[in-house]
Amino acid sequence: MTGALDDLFGGRKDEGQRRVVPVMVPMPAPKPYSYAVPVDMHVEPGSIVQVPLGPRQVIGVVWDEGEENRVEAKKLRPITLAFECPPLKPDHRRFLEWVAQYTLSPPGLVARMALRAPAGFDPEPMVEGLRFTGEKPDRMTPARARVLDLAEDGLSWTRSGLANAAGVSASVIDGLVAQGVFETVFLPPRPIVAAPDPEFVASRLEGAQADAAAELLDEVRSGRFSVALMDGITGSGKTEVYFEAIAETLRQGKQVLILLPEIALTASFLERFQDRFGAKPAEWHSDLAPKTRERVWRQVATGDVRVVAGARSALFLPFDNLGLIIVDEEHDPAYKQEDRVFYNARDMAVVRGHIGGFPVVLVSATPSVESQVNGLSGRYRAIHLPVRFGEAELPDLHLVDMRRHAPARGGFLSPVLIRAIGKTVERGEQALLFLNRRGYAPLTLCRVCGHRFQCPQCASWLVEHRFKGQIQCHQCGYAEKTPDACPECGTFDHLVACGPGVERIAEEVERHFPDARTIVLSSDILGGVRRLRLELEAIAKGEADIVIGTQLVAKGHNFPLMSLVGIVDADLGLANGDPRAAERTFQLLSQVTGRAGRSGLKSHGLIQTYQPAHPVMQAIVSGDAHAFYEREIAERERAKLPPFGRLASIIVSADSRADAEAHARALRLAAPSGLGISVLGPAEAPLALIRGRHRFRLLVHGKRNADMQTFLRQMLSNAPKERGSVQVQLDIDPQSFL
Ligand code: ADP
Ligand code: ZN
Repeated sequence: MTGALDDLFGGRKDEGQRRVVPVMVPMPAPKPYSYAVPVDMHVEPGSIVQVPLGPRQVIGVVWDEGEENRVEAKKLRPITLAFECPPLKPDHRRFLEWVAQYTLSPPGLVARMALRAPAGFDPEPMVEGLRFTGEKPDRMTPARARVLDLAEDGLSWTRSGLANAAGVSASVIDGLVAQGVFETVFLPPRPIVAAPDPEFVASRLEGAQADAAAELLDEVRSGRFSVALMDGITGSGKTEVYFEAIAETLRQGKQVLILLPEIALTASFLERFQDRFGAKPAEWHSDLAPKTRERVWRQVATGDVRVVAGARSALFLPFDNLGLIIVDEEHDPAYKQEDRVFYNARDMAVVRGHIGGFPVVLVSATPSVESQVNGLSGRYRAIHLPVRFGEAELPDLHLVDMRRHAPARGGFLSPVLIRAIGKTVERGEQALLFLNRRGYAPLTLCRVCGHRFQCPQCASWLVEHRFKGQIQCHQCGYAEKTPDACPECGTFDHLVACGPGVERIAEEVERHFPDARTIVLSSDILGGVRRLRLELEAIAKGEADIVIGTQLVAKGHNFPLMSLVGIVDADLGLANGDPRAAERTFQLLSQVTGRAGRSGLKSHGLIQTYQPAHPVMQAIVSGDAHAFYEREIAERERAKLPPFGRLASIIVSADSRADAEAHARALRLAAPSGLGISVLGPAEAPLALIRGRHRFRLLVHGKRNADMQTFLRQMLSNAPKERGSVQVQLDIDPQSFL
């Protein structure tokens, strides 16, 4: 206002008089930059703006005033333009700050995650429509009568919508327009999804389901922050129950976010939601078309989208009035982002609820140990669903001791499993073989000289993909044609594949069951996510007899004819030195075996292992998850591992091994003392070389209440500056130790 008056009276226009605001730019800057606000521009905290940054124009967010909050610019430049778009809400801005502070990431990079829809900041264009004027046409025809019948009430239609609804050609409509029977009007753009109706078709819940739903409704009605942990075996009705919490939140006029780990593959979830609420939720994940992405972003901001089902990044959408977050499969490792900003969406969802003052519901058949402990201590409200719904029964699970039931030479399937597959296929039912290894064989070597094929840029073996005729690096994507001769000794036809991948299991299956319809499902499938969705639908319809898949098949799909699940190598995940290895294996195997018997068919699971006495194997076959968790929790408590202690890892990488190691050592020396936090390492990372960068790791270990962030900040500021190619990446609460 003052600015405008000054202008009018030719008043002083020195720096002191111009309005200056902090703007968070999408850069790794520690604080917002100052910009001048042009006199005729309205901005407020949260406004999305375009500003000059060096020679470029970037998108930023006007941040909150506050002296400490600003980097003083030498030369104050004006904001270029302010988008006509709802400002990011204060609780959203506090959330972004919190994530930055917790993960020790530059706030600008966190803010950038909230701005990933460039063209979504401008309003969508209006759509041309038609409205009945009350005029009569020169003569009436049956087609015209049908059109007028529909449009008589004076509501607006699009030209094609009206033609379709009336079953007439567009020229009939044009004729009526020409006679003034219709006038052109401008309509707001159509919503990306219709509004969900909380009363559309409610399920009848009884017993434990009804109790569980009542507890969730309690939380929703209280309208306060709370966390509930709902566990129950696959098929016990967890989804059905949390739909009730969603319905109640919708009745309150608030928005809902459902986080799912593999949203791109869960078309069946969207349909189920539609059956319950009469409309699909808006989807949010990296496979969305850019146009759709922008519309979803905008309509979440305006509040037109009521429910979003999304991958972890949906947490950063600009909700207008968020009232509930559901985190389905809360234990899933896919919730952890390990790129730029390292964060766990499950944990950040709880933070989002805390800041926004609304309930968060964590859901899983096999909760993470961290959440279990919070459930047991009463920090989270524990809600338990004990049995499968209706006819569905859990599969009968048996261990196959591979020391006693060895596969035939060159094979990986024990005779027991092969017999079971045969019987299943004979009955016209489906078998699923699970092996979490893509490609044909994890290692290829030359029988003559022993040469192993290794990635030229990474310390990892090349994996043979026989269908594609390639050997590939699973770290960096490097691929070459599978050679005929050994590059070392030149011998032809002496390359041997060591160990199995899904393609090799498929080959073995086809040898035994040449007439069965066999399909391999992994992320290598040609045609990407779309093709995968189609294949999953085809399997659900019974169009395959034997499915061989990686963890992609473990998630959320419903295959009614699936009555046998075979785990090819249950020991695979146990031997990788990860403190969560047992937990992960338990979760993954439970999830895979849970794919069977979802429709009342008698079903079986056969688990091939060389360690039948291992606690994970025992927990799976006995169905005694409780004992498993108890043991796992005691183990973590003893070792002061999360959630009884805190971890952070520091990865130092550089073009040369010596530089990486030297900087890692310098960091170690820079560690402050007296905070009750210790540093282990540096040690060469298990993945010592990725994309030509050498890697060293430090592991930071503190007590449960240790202030890791302060410790790490001090350590980084004490340490010498990173020079040359050296990079330091911090990972708070690491999930990966490679
Ligand atoms: P979970 O999420 O625990 O795996 P779901 O909610 O998917 O379990 O339920 C498993 C199956 O049982 C689904 O097909 C679901 O439609 C059905 N179901 C569960 N509870 C009910 C209910 N109360 N009424 C009707 N169908 C139900
Ligand atoms: Zn590589």
